[in-house]
Amino acid sequence: TAYRDGTAAAGLPVRGEPAANELILSVNHVERSFPVGGQQLHVLKGIDMELRRGQLVMLRGRSGSGKTTLMNMIGGLDQPNKGEIYFMGHPFHQWNDDKRTEVRRKQIGFIFQAYALMPLLSAWENVELSMRMAGIPRSMWKPRVEHCLELVGLGKRMHHRPFELSGGEQQRVAIAKSIAHRPTLLLADEPTAELDSQMGAQIMSVFREIIETEQVTICMTTHDPTILEVADHVYQMVDGKFVTT
Ligand code: ADP
Repeated sequence: TAYRDGTAAAGLPVRGEPAANELILSVNHVERSFPVGGQQLHVLKGIDMELRRGQLVMLRGRSGSGKTTLMNMIGGLDQPNKGEIYFMGHPFHQWNDDKRTEVRRKQIGFIFQAYALMPLLSAWENVELSMRMAGIPRSMWKPRVEHCLELVGLGKRMHHRPFELSGGEQQRVAIAKSIAHRPTLLLADEPTAELDSQMGAQIMSVFREIIETEQVTICMTTHDPTILEVADHVYQMVDGKFVTT
């Protein structure tokens, strides 16, 4: 069993022993424009980046610089007008929606600024729901839900509903949800934006813990200069291009 929680033995998808430094994502010369008012608005103007197994990478840049547009493409939600995107070797730039969705559902997790929890469901039920959505058999839910909630430090709050939890705790439920199906890549859009700096720092240590335990790669956007130092790499976006800082 490659994983500490033992659920690999229970039949959750196992992707073999991950190679150290394995290339997860490569983005080559990507351009994206949108038709706006009869003209083309050039949003991404030639992006190159790569993500490797176990990295915590941050995208930083002003509002409107193109971070969300790039994240959408990395997550297979949108496609470039030019250039290539390979996720685990899969050519996302060439594949149709259905094919990208299939890969996304199994191998990518998303975390949003505003938590996106089901308000009437407990932390436990929220995580369970995402395993159901990912098509993971019911018999595997229990150990995995428990493991994920413990991993994010909510072992004692498993049956609380969102309104009974702090903002930081709600975001940790959202993180547990996003990793329940054991994704390769986690994409987080401003995950600390709604939190004070102490809670933001907690989220960052949870991310480090997840990387260690689950061997995921995390790519997140942020405005927060205080958390940049925990990144393995920071890409600074200015007007649709990366600049070196
Ligand atoms: P950021 O995440 O850095 O704030 P975005 O990627 O959201 O930046 O947006 C970059 C620019 O692209 C903005 O000017 C935005 O209005 C524009 N944009 C994004 N998506 C679309 C779309 N679907 N149609 C038209 N314009 C878009």
